[in-house]
Amino acid sequence: MTSENDTVQEHESIKELSALAVAGNLTEAEWAELKAHLAECASCRSVYEEDLLVAKRRMAILGNDSTAAGAGNGLGQFAGAK
Ligand SMILES: [Zn+2]
Repeated sequence: MTSENDTVQEHESIKELSALAVAGNLTEAEWAELKAHLAECASCRSVYEEDLLVAKRRMAILGNDSTAAGAGNGLGQFAGAK
């Protein structure tokens, strides 16, 4: 049953791509691969959606911080990062 092993490995690599995707670290080719897989694979899609939720929550925290400190002038980033 090597084909099953191949499939499992494909899902595993998609999960890694998913984590990179929400961190904004994918190349266009990797994005294409991820999207193509998610279109057909509900279980990886739910993994990706969960990663997205986590990333959004993290961004909301960072976003609030930089908005409060920066007030749109960009210097807040440095102030926030100390
Ligand atoms: Zn999958």
